[in-house]
Amino acid sequence: MNLELVDIQGLSVVQDSFSELTGFSFSTYDDRGHLLIPPKYEDKLLAFIKSYTAGREEYGDFVRKGIEMAAMRKEISLFKGPADQHHLFIPSQVDGCALVLVGGAFYLSNRDFEEFYMKKGQSYGLTPSQLQSWSQKITVRDYETIQSISTHIKLLLNTVLRCGYERNLNRKRYQWAKTIIDVLSNIQQPITTGEVYSLMVDALLFLLNVDTVSVMVKDGALFKPMISAGRSKGDVESVFLKEEAWMISRSIKGRSPVSCNDNMEILRLGFPDNIASIHLFPIFCKENVFGVLGIFNSLIAREESECISELCNLVGFVLRNTSLQTVYDAHTKDIAALNLAATSLPAVLHTPDALYETIVDTTTRLLKAERGSLMLPDEDRGELSIKAVKGINKWLTRDIKIKIGEGVAGKVFKEGIPLLVENIGGTAYKARPHYKGGSFVCIPLKVGEETIGVLNISDKTTGEVFSEQDLALLSYFAPYASIALRASNYYSLAEQMKELSITDSLTGVFNRRYFHDRFIEEIQRSVRHDLPFSLAMLDIDDFKLFNDTEGHLAGDDVLKGIAHIARESLRVNDVLARFGGEEFTVIMPQTAKDEAYLVAERIRRNIQELLPCIWKTFPRRCITVSAGVATFPDDGKDTNELTRNADRALYMAKVEGKNRTIVWKKSD
Ligand code: GH3
Ligand code: MG
Ligand code: MG
Repeated sequence: MNLELVDIQGLSVVQDSFSELTGFSFSTYDDRGHLLIPPKYEDKLLAFIKSYTAGREEYGDFVRKGIEMAAMRKEISLFKGPADQHHLFIPSQVDGCALVLVGGAFYLSNRDFEEFYMKKGQSYGLTPSQLQSWSQKITVRDYETIQSISTHIKLLLNTVLRCGYERNLNRKRYQWAKTIIDVLSNIQQPITTGEVYSLMVDALLFLLNVDTVSVMVKDGALFKPMISAGRSKGDVESVFLKEEAWMISRSIKGRSPVSCNDNMEILRLGFPDNIASIHLFPIFCKENVFGVLGIFNSLIAREESECISELCNLVGFVLRNTSLQTVYDAHTKDIAALNLAATSLPAVLHTPDALYETIVDTTTRLLKAERGSLMLPDEDRGELSIKAVKGINKWLTRDIKIKIGEGVAGKVFKEGIPLLVENIGGTAYKARPHYKGGSFVCIPLKVGEETIGVLNISDKTTGEVFSEQDLALLSYFAPYASIALRASNYYSLAEQMKELSITDSLTGVFNRRYFHDRFIEEIQRSVRHDLPFSLAMLDIDDFKLFNDTEGHLAGDDVLKGIAHIARESLRVNDVLARFGGEEFTVIMPQTAKDEAYLVAERIRRNIQELLPCIWKTFPRRCITVSAGVATFPDDGKDTNELTRNADRALYMAKVEGKNRTIVWKKSD
C-alpha cells in the first residue's frame, strides 16, 4: 500500500464537501480498516450510541466488517449497522492502494426508525418518551436518492484519489530520479565499482522501499552477489547464478528486466523458499555487461520498474566510464614506464654488455617479473647464446647454447612470432626446474623482417600469469631494444674500423699515417702555446741479421715485444707509432730535449733488460735498439726537418756502436 502517495489533505476537503452536500457524516479508511480521515461531524443518534462502550465496540466491529466486504467486492455496499441505521461503504482504488469511504448514518424511512426505537431502543439507552425529540435529529433518505448520491460520490472519489495519487507519484518519482542523478553526477573520481553499486543499493532501499536487494556481478560465467542488503539479505547473498540460468540469460540477452514469482522456479535457481519473488534488471552499457540487479520479495509497479531500469542504465554508464578511465590510466602508466625504459638505452649503446643488461633489467621491471634473459645469435646464426640474465645465475647460463628452431626461444627466433604461455604444463614445451611459475613471454627482437635476438621474461613478482597486456607492453618496447642492439652493433663496428685505420696490425701501436697526423697537430699546438716537444726514432740493431738467423716469425714476435715494452715505458700523452719495418717513433708532447733523452733511454734500457736473451743463432744473443732524438723548435720547424734530424741522430747512434741514444746537436 502506497498510502504516502494518497493526497490526504485533498481528500479531506472533498470528504467535507460530500458531507455538506449530502448531509451525511463521511469518514475515510484504508482497506484494512484504519481510519485515515475522521468525520467532520457525526450523526447524533450514532454519537449517542457510541458514547457507551458496548455501542462503540459494536460500531467498530460493524465498520471493520463493512470495509472488508466492500473492499473485497470493490462495489458500493449498503449495510445496516447499530441502531438499524444504514451506512454506505464506497470503495475506491488506484494501483495497489485501496480506500473505503464510509458514510452514514441514515434510515430509509421514518417507520424504520420508529420500529427500531420501539423494539430495541431501550437496549441502546433510549427512553420511549424521547422518541419525538430523536426523530427530529435523525437523517432519512429514500433508496433512489442514496443510490444516485453514492454513484456520484464514487465517481468523484475515484477521480480525486487518482489525480492526487498520480501527482504524488510523479512528484516522488521526480524526487527519486533527481536524488539519484544528483548523487551519480556528483561522483568524485575516482570512484570504485563497489562504491557505485553501494549507491544504487542505498537508493533502492531508502527511496523505493524495496524489501531485499542484491547486486550480482559478472565474474566469468557466473553472476556473484557483490553487495546485498535488506530484510532477506542472508538468503540471497550466497547464491551464485550461472550465465545460462534462464532469468540471467533472458535479462542479459533482452537487455530488459525479468521477473519471477513461481516458487518452484525460484527454488530451482538456488534460492531458499522464503524468497517469493525475484526481479532482475541487467546492468550494462553498450556491449559491456557488468552484472544484474536483483530485487527480492518486493512488489514493483510498472513505473517503478521503468525507474529502476533507468537507474541501471545510468549505473552501467558510470561503470563504463570508470572502467574506461581505469584502462586509460593503465595505458598512461604503461606509456610512462615504456618511455622511461626506452630512454635508458641510448646511454649504454657504446658498451654492448651494459646494453644487454639494461634491456633485460628494464623489461623485467616493465612486466614486474623476477627473471629474464636476452639471447643473441652467434656469428654463423646456428645457435643462440645468453647475453644477459636477471634472476638466474649468470655463470650457469654462460655456456648454454640454444639451437635455432629448438625449444621455446629457438622457435620464437626462427619463426619471428612472440609467444605468451599462461601455463607451460598445457603446452608441448618442457618446464625448466629453475622457473617458479609456468607462465612466460618470449618475444623476437626484429629489425624489419630480420630477427636479431630473443627476449624471455618469466615469473611475475605477484605470482600471476602473464597477460595479453604484458605481451603488448613488451611488444611496444621490443623495437626500441632491437634498434638499440643494431645501433650498438654499428657503433662497435665503427669503433673497430676506426681502430683498424689508425693502428698497426702486427704490433697494435699507431700506424705511420696516424703518426703523421698527430705530428702535424703537435707542431701546430706547440707553436700556439710556444712549447717544445720532442721526437724519438728507434731502430732495432742488426735486425736483418736476426731475421736471417732466427727466422722472420721470431722477428715478428720481437717487433710485438718491443712495441709492448715501449708503450709500457711511456707516459699517457706520448704517442708511439710504427714508422715502418723495424723502426718506431715517439712523439713526446711538451717535452724538452733533456727529458726526451731520459724517456728514450728508458725505452732502450727496458728493451735490453726485459726482452729475454734466448736466441741461440743470433750472434748478438740479445735484442737492443738505437734511438735518435730531435726537439721542436730548436732542431726543426716542420715535420721533414725534425724527422730528418732525429734520423740523423739515430744514424749517429748506429755509427757510435748501437744500443744507445743520441740527441741531435746542430754542430754535429
Ligand atoms: P742496423 O743495426 O744498422 O739497423 O742493421 P739492420 O740489420 O737492422 O739494418 P736495417 O735497419 O736496414 O734492416 C732492416 C731489416 O728489418 C730488414 C728486414 O729484414 C727487417 N724487417 C723490416 N720489417 C720487418 C717485419 O715486419 N718483420 C720482420 N721479421 N723483419 C722486418
Ligand atoms: Mg732500419
Ligand atoms: Mg735496424
